Amino acid sequence: MPSPRYTREIPSRYRLEAGRCKGCGKVVYPARRICPACRAADFETVNLSRKGTVVTSTVIHVPPDEFLMEAPYAMAVVETPEGARLMTQVVDCDPSTVLPGMEVSLEFRLIRKEGKSGILCYGHKGVPVA
Ligand SMILES: [Zn+2]
Repeated sequence: MPSPRYTREIPSRYRLEAGRCKGCGKVVYPARRICPACRAADFETVNLSRKGTVVTSTVIHVPPDEFLMEAPYAMAVVETPEGARLMTQVVDCDPSTVLPGMEVSLEFRLIRKEGKSGILCYGHKGVPVA
């Protein structure tokens, strides 16, 4: 089963909803109750652009079991124009070409199946912008 935390965050993950701190303006994704920058608890919801720029990336050669079929693959921290950073898999390209500065679009894709019950987890994956 997906973890309770994952399940709770599904609606905001599907819509790419982030929170913008009314105290300092920091955009956090997924949205939280307490701002990690200034500890304020007053947020407004912002919908992130479905695109961003790779900030850091790494190629996973030995993934968790459920991702085994996909190795090697690239994981990247992508920053959206709103300033939110999200960890995402970058697909549809050679993983070694995923480098800081690469522009990606965030597309809604199947992430994985959970265990033998085959529960499907969806989320966003980065796809290089040609
Ligand atoms: Zn803040």
